[in-house]
Amino acid sequence: MTTIVRGKLLIDGTGNPPIADPAIAVEGDTISAVGTAGEIQVDRDARVIDLSGMTLLPGLIDAHIHLEGWKTMDLMDWMTTPVAVSALRATADARRLLEAGFTAVRCLGGAASLYLKQAIEEGVIQGPRIVTSGRSFIQTSGGADPWELPVECVEVLDRLEQTLADTVDGPEECRLGVRRRLREGADCIKILTTGAVHSEHNPPTRVGFTQEETDALVDEAHRLGLKVAAHAHGTAGIRTAILAGVDTIEHGSYLDEECIELMLERGTYLVPTFSVGRCNLDPGADGLPDTEYGLRQGREIRGAHRRSFDQAYEAGVKIAAGTDFIGVPPMKHGLNAMELECLVEAGMSSMEAIVAATSSAADAIGLGARAGTVAADGWADFVAVEGNPLDRIRLLSDVAFVMKAGEVIKNRATTVE
Ligand SMILES: [Zn+2]
Repeated sequence: MTTIVRGKLLIDGTGNPPIADPAIAVEGDTISAVGTAGEIQVDRDARVIDLSGMTLLPGLIDAHIHLEGWKTMDLMDWMTTPVAVSALRATADARRLLEAGFTAVRCLGGAASLYLKQAIEEGVIQGPRIVTSGRSFIQTSGGADPWELPVECVEVLDRLEQTLADTVDGPEECRLGVRRRLREGADCIKILTTGAVHSEHNPPTRVGFTQEETDALVDEAHRLGLKVAAHAHGTAGIRTAILAGVDTIEHGSYLDEECIELMLERGTYLVPTFSVGRCNLDPGADGLPDTEYGLRQGREIRGAHRRSFDQAYEAGVKIAAGTDFIGVPPMKHGLNAMELECLVEAGMSSMEAIVAATSSAADAIGLGARAGTVAADGWADFVAVEGNPLDRIRLLSDVAFVMKAGEVIKNRATTVE
């Protein structure tokens, strides 16, 4: 049966001007036709969903989250919670994301999302399409390596999938690690090429893997058809990652001219992850029960991070939207449209921010042309909001209608109140 969805305006995710009085025809899980209401033929037995007054857009995509069922910001807590418990907790977040209009997400670090993805694909639970790296990779001592524990304990926790990041040293182990991740069901690879804000012993500016190790990780991933995301704050680690050929730079706090040139040359995406900073560092933000070093390091990088974004955006580096939310309040899943507001605040137009969270995000995370746009032959993943988000980007944080793979997940338009 054909479903026809009508609205007031369509923003198709490509950056093209909006279409007035649009209609989207859906067959099964696929969009069969898109046009103005006058252009789309309506069969007599078609189901018509009338969203007049609303703007239709592609389902939103968050290119950087952790859908891992964590309840605190404590690494020890994460490592001692069984993956099964984490995965069960994450089912609630998956549902929240979908109802907030996020029909696809990329999970960058943690084992639970591998299993969550499988359950969603089996139709057991509802959630967005998941692209996941499973656990990330670090070198011994790298960001997310729990220095409090003897290295022998960390090796055991690695084998039990209880660590956030798996430790690999030397090019051979790097290649082996990538192969293991592929075998576990990962769709992409996440590496940390610098320290992290939440790492006591590895400040964000400290470089991680050697060039040789990074080359091995990226080459092996690409050889096997997996894209690579690099968590990278400091300039040296960012350069190492770009030179190795990673597909996305996450955070990118200290970009210099050379990094920006290289990103333009190689088509590397920047995922600036503004939301995590807003939640924790903005005056009046709820903040987290955070550590002294986490807050200090977050504040230290903030100015540079914003300048890096400005330069990259000015230069025309490709940008994809990602929050780095982990589900712990205030970084609660379901509030992820915050990143679009942050991108607009940082100088993007509303249309550019929407593109960053739809077609660009789909491209950056390797979902292909069927996601991130409202177009014939694409997946029937789209949302609707009251009013026009080009005038007020914040409207995207209150999605009234969600369809994923042709299934109506949420439709406030017909709710009896
Ligand atoms: Zn992250």
